Amino acid sequence: MPNAIDIHQVTKTFGEGTAMVTALEKVSLAIRDGEFVVFLGPSGCGKSTLLRMIAGLSAVTEGSISIDGRPVEGRPSVGMVFQSYTSFPWLSVAENIGFGLDLAKAGKARRDEKVAAMLDRVSLGKFAGSYPSQLSGGMQQRVAIARALAVDPRILLMDEPFGALDALTRVEMQTLLLDLCAEDRKTVVFVTHDIDEAMLLADRIVVFSPHPGRIAEIVDVDIPHPRSIEQTEREDFTRLRHRLRQLLFAMAKRAA
Ligand code: ADP
Ligand code: MG
Repeated sequence: MPNAIDIHQVTKTFGEGTAMVTALEKVSLAIRDGEFVVFLGPSGCGKSTLLRMIAGLSAVTEGSISIDGRPVEGRPSVGMVFQSYTSFPWLSVAENIGFGLDLAKAGKARRDEKVAAMLDRVSLGKFAGSYPSQLSGGMQQRVAIARALAVDPRILLMDEPFGALDALTRVEMQTLLLDLCAEDRKTVVFVTHDIDEAMLLADRIVVFSPHPGRIAEIVDVDIPHPRSIEQTEREDFTRLRHRLRQLLFAMAKRAA
């Protein structure tokens, strides 16, 4: 089986001449099918840029990215969830979740069935007819996740999806995401600058360094599933947290 995502010697620059910014330089990474990979690093090291290129929303300057062995072109079959504004405010919760299915021209019966199933999975059944502005931040992100998963993408790309949530809601959402991934194994690329979030979720943590964006280190998280937030007080988590903190401090110094 080919890798789910192959990133080969990817460089991305913005602008020209003296105003040119090298967001990423010669980044290579292979992500296996079913793997949960977290991109961790201070801001400005190219994490979002790389995610957008994997999603086909932005072109590489040099190098190549392929999904399931085929070059990324147009819009590959990926689901995306961003930090905020990921729901359409003029559509109800159910319409938001069904949006991708409508685009994919799923029939009404299949669409309604899938929307009902997704509403159930993210515990929003009672809010099918509500509008995003009537929901809390955590509920809005559950809508966004349900919408991304409704079309059954093999790959889920998440850019700081829980970054705007309060600490408690954030843990609830992390737990929900772990549950969803356990039910239905997806390849996930998840961007965060939160160490505990990275440790809880990841099979592998890719630590980025800035100016230009590069991969500084890849850390395997050999902590068995199912994981829960209580386990993050354990010794193996504590050791890993310490190591990641040192790495991030070093990166942040470089960014300053
Ligand atoms: P991160 O997500 O790790 O915070 P980004 O991928 O957003 O980093 O940005 C990486 C670098 O690329 C930054 O220096 C940023 O200013 C620059 N950059 C990102 N997007 C653009 C853009 N559309 N135009 C110009 N520069 C950009
Ligand atoms: Mg970003």
